[in-house]
Amino acid sequence: MALIVHKYGGTSMGSTERIRNVAKRVAKWARAGHQMVVVPSAMSGETNRLLGLAKELAPGTPDDAHARELDMLAATGEQASSALLALALQSEGLQAVSYAGWQVQVKTDSAFTKARIESIDDARVRADLEAGRVVVVTGFQGVDEAGNITTLGRGGSDTSAVAIAAAMKAAECLIYTDVDGVYTTDPRVEPDARRLLTVSFEEMLEMASLGSKVLQIRSVEFAGKYKVPLRVLSSFTPWDIDINEEAKSGTLITFEEDEHMEQAVVSGIAFNRDEAKISVLGVPDKPGIAYHILGAVADANIEVDVIIQNLSKDGRTDFSFTVNRNDYAKAVDLLKAKVLPTLGAAEVVGDTKICKVSIVGIGMRSHVGVAARMFRVLSEEGINIQMISTSEIKTSVVIDEKYMELAVRALHKAFDLDQPAS
Ligand code: ADP
Ligand code: ASP
Ligand code: MG
Repeated sequence: MALIVHKYGGTSMGSTERIRNVAKRVAKWARAGHQMVVVPSAMSGETNRLLGLAKELAPGTPDDAHARELDMLAATGEQASSALLALALQSEGLQAVSYAGWQVQVKTDSAFTKARIESIDDARVRADLEAGRVVVVTGFQGVDEAGNITTLGRGGSDTSAVAIAAAMKAAECLIYTDVDGVYTTDPRVEPDARRLLTVSFEEMLEMASLGSKVLQIRSVEFAGKYKVPLRVLSSFTPWDIDINEEAKSGTLITFEEDEHMEQAVVSGIAFNRDEAKISVLGVPDKPGIAYHILGAVADANIEVDVIIQNLSKDGRTDFSFTVNRNDYAKAVDLLKAKVLPTLGAAEVVGDTKICKVSIVGIGMRSHVGVAARMFRVLSEEGINIQMISTSEIKTSVVIDEKYMELAVRALHKAFDLDQPAS
C-alpha cells in the first residue's frame, strides 16, 4: 500500500462522463489498497471562460490592477471540478471528500495570478486518508497570509499536485493528461514526435521553461527539489486497464543520469510563441548601458529572456531583448518615456511576431557542433535567425513566428527524433 497523488488536467475533467471515468480509475487504485489524493484542474475551457467574463466587465484593466479578484474568480473552476469529482467517487461507493486550497491549507505568497506555494499543512488530508477516504484537493490555488485566495499561474495544477506529493512524501505523483507522456516535441505540431520512456529532470526543466506546456515549470522545480517521483501519462486509456501496466506507462522523469536510457544528443524540441522582441536603437556604446535599459525594465517587474547587443559603429550600438508578449506594451511605453530621454538613444522598435525554438538534451554537454548543426538546418530552410542563446544543455533561436512549425519539423527530422532511440 502506498500514498499516491493523481493529477487530472482540464481535458481529462472536461465533461461529467470524463469525470466519471476519472472516478472509476481512482477507485481502481484505491481498491488496490493505495491511499489516494487527487488534484483536478478546472473543466477544460472553464478558466478561460471565467477570465473572459472578467475582461468583458473590466475591459482595458491591466491584470495586475485587479489581480486579487481574478484569483477569487478563477479559483472557482477548480472548486467546482473538485466537488464534482468527490461526488462521482462517492457514486463509485468510495468515501471521498473535497477541499479548496485554503481549507487544506496550501499557503502561498501574495503574488496574485502567479503565487508561489510556501508551505502545505497536510494534517487534515492525512486524517482523512487514515479514516479510509479518498481526498480531492483543488489544483491551481492556495491562500496567502491574509486569507486571500491566490492562484499559481496558468497550468498551475501540476504544481499543486507535485507540491502536495512532496509535502505528503507520496510514493509517486502521476500527472494524467490528454497525451500519453512527454514527447520529443509537441505532437500537435509534429505528428511524428515520439514518446520518451524517460526524460531527465534537467531536460524536463529546460523543456518546460522553454515553452513545452505539458508540465508547468514550477512543478518540475518542486519535483527536483524534493525528489518527487513523477510520471506523465494518459487519462484516455480505458479506466479498467491493468493497474500494473498503467503504473509503468507514460514518461518517467528521472533524477539519475544513468537511469536515463535514451542517450540521444538532442532529446527534445521546445517552442514558445509567448515572447516579443524589443530593440533600442542608436544607444551610445559606453559602460552602464545594459544596466540602464534592463534595470528600468526589471524595476517594472518585467522578466527579460534572450538579450543581444550589436557591434558598435560610430560609438553607437543597438540593444535587443525579448519579454513576455503580455509585458510588451508596458515595456515599450516605459522605455520610450523613461529610458530614451535619459539615454540619448534614437528609437525603440519592437516585433511581436517572433517565436523561440530550442533544442534540448543533456547529450549536448559531451558533443560539439550541435548548435552549428541547428543553424545549418535553419539556413537550409531559408529561416533567418534573429537572436541566439545557449546553455550547456540547450540552444535557442529567435525567429519569425511564421516559420515556427517549419523549424520545429526540420530540426526534429535532422536530429533523428522521429527514429526510435538506439
Ligand atoms: P492538462 O490540461 O492535462 O494540464 P495541457 O494542455 O496543460 O494538459 O498539457 C498537455 C499538452 O501539452 C498536450 O496536449 C500537448 O499538446 C502539449 N505539449 C507540448 N509539448 C509537449 C511535449 N513535448 N510532449 C507532450 N505534450 C506536449
Ligand atoms: N485551470 C488552470 C488553467 O487553466 C490550471 C490548470 O489547468 O492547471 O490554467
Ligand atoms: Mg496543464
